[in-house]
Amino acid sequence: MTPNALNFSGGPGALPATVLDETRDAIVALPETGRSVLGMSHRSAWFLGLLDEAERNIRALLGLPERYAISFLQGGSSLLFATIPMNFATRAFAPPEYVNSGYWSRRASAEAQRTAACRIAWDGAPTGFSELPALQQLAVAPNAAYLHYVSNETVEGLQFGDGEARSAVPLIADMSSDFLSRPLAAERFAMIYAHAQKNLGPAGVTVALIDRALLERIPPNLPHMLDLRTQIEHRSNYNTPPVFAIYVLTLVTRWLRNEIGGLAAMQRINEAKAQRLYGTLDAMREVVKVHAAAPWRSRMNAAFTFGDARLDRAFIACANARGMAGLEGHRSLGGLRASLYNAVTLEAVDVLCETLIEFGRRHA
Ligand code: PMP
Repeated sequence: MTPNALNFSGGPGALPATVLDETRDAIVALPETGRSVLGMSHRSAWFLGLLDEAERNIRALLGLPERYAISFLQGGSSLLFATIPMNFATRAFAPPEYVNSGYWSRRASAEAQRTAACRIAWDGAPTGFSELPALQQLAVAPNAAYLHYVSNETVEGLQFGDGEARSAVPLIADMSSDFLSRPLAAERFAMIYAHAQKNLGPAGVTVALIDRALLERIPPNLPHMLDLRTQIEHRSNYNTPPVFAIYVLTLVTRWLRNEIGGLAAMQRINEAKAQRLYGTLDAMREVVKVHAAAPWRSRMNAAFTFGDARLDRAFIACANARGMAGLEGHRSLGGLRASLYNAVTLEAVDVLCETLIEFGRRHA
């Protein structure tokens, strides 16, 4: 297996082999234009067509109703942590509410607090961020500006179920680490956003889906680049967009539609990968501990540890020697983390599981 196939990084992560091949060729010459993708103008007919295709593919994959605008943004999910409250937490509403379920949702609420008063609707700190709440049972003020949550906590390896997304107030989700990994009832959300570097492509572009009804709330006089209407009104071409990142993202959405066969098929593959890995870790429970409590285990990121930093490091060395990469836990949690994003194959997960079993036996 190639080194790219054995990439378990938390992000930027693995990309499909066929996408990498096409990207390599496109850096020299795009089949459509004969010129390098890196030198293509964002005003060219080719790029305008690419933006249309990216949007069409995302709409088709999700069955996204027309009332949602799609925009391709820069600044990562972190900039949206700031711009979402600037745009939508206006005085006409009670403070927005945030679910603090792990590292990234805490970063989101901490950033929101710099611009708006916000309320923590639920806090996972007392249980060490190893569990998730039932969203529809949270006591949220009926006139709250919105409820924000992170659908998949990349660091702790916690994921909300697909059916969980229900709220009486506008629901905004950071789906950076599980967007397009499974079908989604998009119509339950006011806004969904996800940066590309887990399941969609390279770093540099963030996809935002916004119910147009929400745009009416945006206050006047926000700087253009912070006003979420700007890129929608300019079809993601107000200033120079990240042409290359959007190109690779479009190839990934093509791959999802044509090679994988859509999000239900992608979900079946992702479930199979997660079952294999958690099955292996559970069979090793004498020596390995999974961070997330069983009902909330993420199909995208498994955070676990041999319970001893020295053993964790020894496992990483052993895995690296067999061509694997990216298994270090996030710097805030330590331990190990295996990320099973869309482009990681079941065969790659098998290689990881065999290595875990052998290492576990040697160190039991
Ligand atoms: N949200 C989630 C769920 C993440 O995993 C990350 C980064 N890994 C971020 C937000 C931050 O994204 P960015 O680096 O694009 O700002």
